[in-house]
Amino acid sequence: MRADSCRTIDFPDGRRFAFTIMDDTDVATLANVGPIYRLLTNLGMRTTKTVWPVGCPEGSKNYASSSTLDDPEYLAFVLELERAGFEIAYHGATMETSPRERTERAIAKFLTLFRKPPRVYANHSYNRENLYWGADRIDIGILKFLYHRLTGQPRDQYQGHRPGSPWWWGDLASAHVRYVRNLTFDEIDLRCINPTLPYCDNVRTIVPWWFSAADAEDVTAFNTLLAPENQDRLERQSGICIVATHFGKGFVAQGKVVSETERLLRRLADRPGWFVPVGTLLDWLVGQGVAGPLPATEWRRMQWRWFYDLSARQIRQRVRALLRSETRNC
Ligand SMILES: [Zn+2]
Repeated sequence: MRADSCRTIDFPDGRRFAFTIMDDTDVATLANVGPIYRLLTNLGMRTTKTVWPVGCPEGSKNYASSSTLDDPEYLAFVLELERAGFEIAYHGATMETSPRERTERAIAKFLTLFRKPPRVYANHSYNRENLYWGADRIDIGILKFLYHRLTGQPRDQYQGHRPGSPWWWGDLASAHVRYVRNLTFDEIDLRCINPTLPYCDNVRTIVPWWFSAADAEDVTAFNTLLAPENQDRLERQSGICIVATHFGKGFVAQGKVVSETERLLRRLADRPGWFVPVGTLLDWLVGQGVAGPLPATEWRRMQWRWFYDLSARQIRQRVRALLRSETRNC
């Protein structure tokens, strides 16, 4: 059901809904994301791909297989995507924590390569330079407490927004970044949860605008989110969907896009949707007056819903891990 404050939006050219994707670059390589971008190009969808401008010479436990813009072949692929109309966004300097010096170098490299600043940004994993991350994503005291209990993360883990910290880069974010992703939900139509999109946040003032997204960690979650009945609802409600996903996580097998994903994307592309990158969509929403300060009731509802969805995801992950270990032990 829609929030009461949700007014109808008339999308450009008579389009009946908006759909885009923000692809976080975790574990992405030319081989495991190239085919999905070829498909999106052919379908006329233009989305947002995040990058890591510089390499990670100290190594990475979970992301060492990922490509960065230090890889010439991968860089050529990203530049080609940009020429084709995809938006290139920022996912931090690289796959592990970066002190300020590396962040400065990464942003300078981004500016040189793309001739414009990284306007759209999403925090990455446990990187200490993340902006307002962890429990700093929210304001409700009890939820902050429960979040710490659920994740076990130290309270001072994320410091990108704290002046004086070795990981501070808030001034650089203010200078270059316009939109930052915060809360994600298990819901295809963001207008059901966050109709004031994008929104300004008077607690998190380092950047002008924040936005929400639909969570799809990997290809399985993406296919569930894009189920035909959800697509029907998105179109029927004139909704807005920004999917936060990782194309490196299972979207391509043996050099081809997974058939179920291709089928769902083709079905979506046949609908009268507006398929533009995240920054283009958010700029347009700002121009339409849909964006603005976040009403307190909407923000409160968003935080509770986010925590509920996060907890449900964690429980599902733990059950799956348990089932896998039991299968191995049989
Ligand atoms: Zn990431």
